[in-house]
Amino acid sequence: MIPDHSLRSLPGEPPSTIRLSEEAGRCVACGLCVPHCPTYRKTLNEADSPRGRIFMMAALLEQRLPLSPEVLHHLDLCLTCRACENACPSQVRYGWLADNMRAWIEPQRQRPAGQQRLRRMLFDTLRRPYRLRSTAWLLRAYQASGLQQLARKSGTLAALGLERAEAQLPALPKNRPLHGMHAAPGTPRGTVGLFLGCVAQLTDASTLGAAIFILNRLGYSVDVPHAQTCCGALHQHNGATGTARELADDNRRAFGSPALEAILHAASGCGATLAEQEPSLPAPLLDISSFLSQAQDWEQAQIAPLQQTIAVHEPCSSRNVLHDQNAAYQLLQRIPGASVMPLHGNDQCCGAAGSYALAQPAMADLLLRDKIEAIKVSGARIIATSNPGCAMHLAAGLRAEGIAIEVLHPVYLVARQMGYEHA
Ligand code: SF4
Ligand code: SF4
Repeated sequence: MIPDHSLRSLPGEPPSTIRLSEEAGRCVACGLCVPHCPTYRKTLNEADSPRGRIFMMAALLEQRLPLSPEVLHHLDLCLTCRACENACPSQVRYGWLADNMRAWIEPQRQRPAGQQRLRRMLFDTLRRPYRLRSTAWLLRAYQASGLQQLARKSGTLAALGLERAEAQLPALPKNRPLHGMHAAPGTPRGTVGLFLGCVAQLTDASTLGAAIFILNRLGYSVDVPHAQTCCGALHQHNGATGTARELADDNRRAFGSPALEAILHAASGCGATLAEQEPSLPAPLLDISSFLSQAQDWEQAQIAPLQQTIAVHEPCSSRNVLHDQNAAYQLLQRIPGASVMPLHGNDQCCGAAGSYALAQPAMADLLLRDKIEAIKVSGARIIATSNPGCAMHLAAGLRAEGIAIEVLHPVYLVARQMGYEHA
């Protein structure tokens, strides 16, 4: 059956209660999605399954169910991983429904004033990535000065309620200027745009630098527009769909150059959000690994061998939304000697899911535990994943257990084998 895209909201317009009810009404309660749902598999509670959640959403919309803390708990526990969508014969657009239901619920929700302020501050900071960049030096100084160890040992972080968020923070790479035009030497094969994301500019700048390095080596000039902003994923999944639409407009304008033959992203979470925005970006949007695995002129690239097993963690955004999870394998197979394998349990979310690991720590930890066990039995010394949020979550889990296994973006790993150093 062809999905009914007429239910999609028009740009700038939130969906009506009727539209939401229509989408929820497409669920025929067959239950085929239920065993695929990570939260249901952990709790075995129907209210934590896609079918149970859709039932609750329909009842809320029809005012047959009050918006109780218990209902909110079951809805909030959803990861928006969208494993249920792939299993659904009625093609219920669960992601669309979940995002827009959160926006529908938000005005009715009683949040403590402190939480409301924090939420506004976070949303506001993400839409201005230059603010994040300007705090990077402070965080680097915190990590390099020994203050981090002191704060961790002294219990200060726990007292401030920052222990979990701080534990997710990777060692921040050097701040290398990324914006502007990075021209390929000689006559370029073409020009592509690079989407940076917001948090990834801080935590995964080495992957973004590596992407520019490989693209230039293969003859592509890379345009990194200054005016680009956050993809809006966090806003979209947390009831601020209006802000997400504004950010989509900003990015459409930023990437408006007609010279771009493609716009590449290096974070599948951002890519999934950008891919579903309407109207779409002005040039084809592609995952960097997809673009590179199809690119020409690899014969000229010198890739040093790596006799290692690399296990690939497939992010939900790549597997369930973009359906481009094979690209990471194809790219990594360019490394001579590397043995590339899928990480067991790739059909289940790792629990990172944007801000989920901070908002729902108990469920996030249960899901992370399964991944750490899968990594231990894999024998891999390197985990590759194309979503920086998953990478941070997995790396934090490995660090907590004292396991020295690298978690890297496939593009960074290939660039490193080509001699790239993030300096
Ligand atoms: S999006 Fe994921 S967690 Fe949410 S109901 Fe669907 S399968 Fe379950
Ligand atoms: S598979 Fe689709 S139709 Fe069946 S219960 Fe799940 S959401 Fe409803």
